[in-house]
Amino acid sequence: MTAMNGAGRLSRGGSRGRVAALSALALGIGALTATSDGVLTRALAAPPPENTCANPGALGVERIVEIDTKGGPLLGNLQYKEIDFLKPGEVVLTFDDGPSRQSTNRVLDALAAHCTRATFFMVGRMAVAEPDMVRKVDSLGHTVGTHSWSHANQASLGADRSKREIELGISAVSAALGRPIAPFFRFPYLSDPKGAIRYLEQRDQGIFSIDVDTKDFQTRSASVMQQRLFRELQSHGKGIILFHDIQHSTATGIASVLDELKKRGFKIVHMVPKGTATTIAEFDAAARKELERRNALATAAPLANRSMVWPVTQGDAPPTTSVRRSRQPAANAPPAASAGSPAPPTATVKPPQHDQATATDSPRPKPSWKREELPWQEQMFKHLR
Ligand SMILES: [Zn+2]
Repeated sequence: MTAMNGAGRLSRGGSRGRVAALSALALGIGALTATSDGVLTRALAAPPPENTCANPGALGVERIVEIDTKGGPLLGNLQYKEIDFLKPGEVVLTFDDGPSRQSTNRVLDALAAHCTRATFFMVGRMAVAEPDMVRKVDSLGHTVGTHSWSHANQASLGADRSKREIELGISAVSAALGRPIAPFFRFPYLSDPKGAIRYLEQRDQGIFSIDVDTKDFQTRSASVMQQRLFRELQSHGKGIILFHDIQHSTATGIASVLDELKKRGFKIVHMVPKGTATTIAEFDAAARKELERRNALATAAPLANRSMVWPVTQGDAPPTTSVRRSRQPAANAPPAASAGSPAPPTATVKPPQHDQATATDSPRPKPSWKREELPWQEQMFKHLR
């Protein structure tokens, strides 16, 4: 349930998730004026400079929406129906599974050319592998959330492993950035067991599903990805869009997608958190260790210090196939994701295998796939076998 109060704030009954809609902001075009009830945000504290967007046809940012994650609000209508903060024609850009230098930089360039902003749900060990990319994403004004430590399917994990995946992800991305990140979380494969949801609620993490799936992992073709996206958008009319910045079709196609969004009159909404993610000391220590290990390797082999993939650490288990239904599943909530069982790799630093069609967060891979499609971890680490 949501209701609009007099101050432009959307609230869901009680003290749980709240969403404050701030007034229109055209990045580089107009100044930010708060219409919420006096809540200051990062954007308010450090508004972007005016009149700096060189592209007169830029998408910019129509609105900044501040999300109060206290109590763990559930967002994204594919799985949750609790909060809907978008008006018709509004979209939120989200990118999962990165960062990865080569492909994420292309996404960042395209976003910058349109003076617009997005949310990145980063994988902890990807962040540890390329901490400078985490800092770059943040420095460009995008929101940085997390997507677990190793992209394991939460449905296959016991309570301890589930907590470790969540917490080490948060600690690792925070450590890579060097300061607190957004308390925004997205489940790998959108696989959201009830216990993990309860845990995230206690940790005041916003839980983000999606509205529109580009399925960019199913194709290397930017145009195929784009056509699918706009078919979906035509049907939904708005929504939180899922891309993967490690995917070739998105890295090569995002610039054209942004041009087309502008052409079709869509408006960009940028999500920012009211507060920041807290971390737990034991996982901070583990994340620091991982970063130190990475830095030592990078120093020892400087030529490998580009786009490397961080190995799975002891305790990482392969994903399995079962996915539980969400607490309030949407009518079109998808069935279980299909994921394989990769063997834990043993090597250390290797070039990434991102530019391949991979199954990532889709909860519903099409059974009609003819080509062999490996899940995220298998694609990423198959070269280590
Ligand atoms: Zn993912």
